[in-house]
Amino acid sequence: MRVQGGDARSDSGTVAAMTHMHVAGSIHADVTTPAPVWLTRPEDVNALTPKLWSATSRREADGVVSVGGVRLTDLADQVGTPAYVIDEDDFRARARDWREAFDGWTVYYAGKSFLCATVARWADEEGLSLDVCSLGELTVALRAGFEPARIGMHGNNKSDAELRLGLERGVGRIIVDSSDEITRLERLCEELDTTAKVMVRVTTGVEAHTHEYIATAHEDQKFGFSINGGQALVGMFRCHHSPRLELLGVHSHIGSQIFDTNGFEVAARRTLKLFAQFREATGLELAELDLGGGFGIAYTKEDDPASAAELAGGLREIVAHECAAFGLATPKVSIEPGRAIVGPAGLALYRVGTVKPVDVGGGLSRRYLSVDGGMSDNIRPALYAAEYSATLASRASGAEPVVSRVVGLHCEGGDILVRDEFLPCDVRIGDLLAVPASGAYSRSMASNYNHTPRPPVVAVRDGQVRTLLRRETLDDLLALDAGITEFEE
Ligand SMILES: *Cc1c(COP(=O)(O)O)cnc(C)c1O
Repeated sequence: MRVQGGDARSDSGTVAAMTHMHVAGSIHADVTTPAPVWLTRPEDVNALTPKLWSATSRREADGVVSVGGVRLTDLADQVGTPAYVIDEDDFRARARDWREAFDGWTVYYAGKSFLCATVARWADEEGLSLDVCSLGELTVALRAGFEPARIGMHGNNKSDAELRLGLERGVGRIIVDSSDEITRLERLCEELDTTAKVMVRVTTGVEAHTHEYIATAHEDQKFGFSINGGQALVGMFRCHHSPRLELLGVHSHIGSQIFDTNGFEVAARRTLKLFAQFREATGLELAELDLGGGFGIAYTKEDDPASAAELAGGLREIVAHECAAFGLATPKVSIEPGRAIVGPAGLALYRVGTVKPVDVGGGLSRRYLSVDGGMSDNIRPALYAAEYSATLASRASGAEPVVSRVVGLHCEGGDILVRDEFLPCDVRIGDLLAVPASGAYSRSMASNYNHTPRPPVVAVRDGQVRTLLRRETLDDLLALDAGITEFEE
């Protein structure tokens, strides 16, 4: 098994990715610039590759990139950098796409990919249900006015506080993850004199990562009830027999950044087999099946995600086929895309602060562009060796493209945002770089490493900028520091 994105193309930190160094140490147009194998030299370094960019992104006549009718130079002046920018029309269009493609099924937006009150409302207005997996996410959803009956609660170690809140507000389903949780939930239901609708999260042994999946016999991870060990059926029977719980069905989530339906086919077969076994034991057919999320998006030009319509066609066929094989009626099916909806709708905008050609030995040099953000606002490259692309956003350039590395300001060698990208060789201090496909798991996984305030999230639409989450300030961070508060008192 490999780490997500940790395939051969991430191991390009070798000679192939470097450029020949001139005596002066700088990189010029005449230098051969071998790229990692997967990274092809762009015909036009100013072009925006459509699959990487939100629908309203374009390069204006004067070279500035605009999104939602807002020039990114103006946006940077207005809200500063770094900033996350979400194309509202694009988010809504994707949400609609998924809902329409999966018509008759239920589409839960996975809030962990990015959630704030406004985004919860967009998802609501576009007809999506909502998944949360913490007390914080549940609170945001409820405060946004999201209908509790359309909220699903996930988590492998839910607290009493979050379960209690979910029960009090009447969430539509709680995806139970362990027998300890079943015990806890029954106790809380007793206490509140209520009942809970539950799905049992099962581990199918399918591990999907990027372009491949692995169907294994062992299920050595923290989520859910394992099918092989028989725990899944035991959990299902326990919920079924509990006077406080109503068992809706079975839930499976096989991974992330998945590009085809092979993994879902195995997962559907293994979960529907549980339906058949449950029917054999109880005479009852379960009503609901959730196949989880993890649908892949394009982070670089070489990623080729299927459309929602293609996936819907494939998944419907799989479920119909497997149900027929087990002689089951087709259950109500749901899916949980997060990244596929908000990922391509968002970009991260940075300003270049230093440009440094680094001698890497063997007469080779690598061009490092340091920006004013980094692993605190996008941990994915450091965490999963995830690949991204970057584009000069504040102007077009006629200069020769050279392989460059976009790095952050943090005190870690691994603080890399874009490992390898062709950028014009004249990128200089003050230029804006945009990293597209940054809408998912960037702000939601952001940290305050190095006491860095987290960037704002702004929505753009019809030439208007609207703050969804304001920029954190140093005062926000200092307010947490009891030592400073005491000292100043
Ligand atoms: C993370 C997660 C999702 C969403 O994954 P994406 O890759 O954003 O689509 C859906 N369901 C569950 C249970 C998850 O843990």
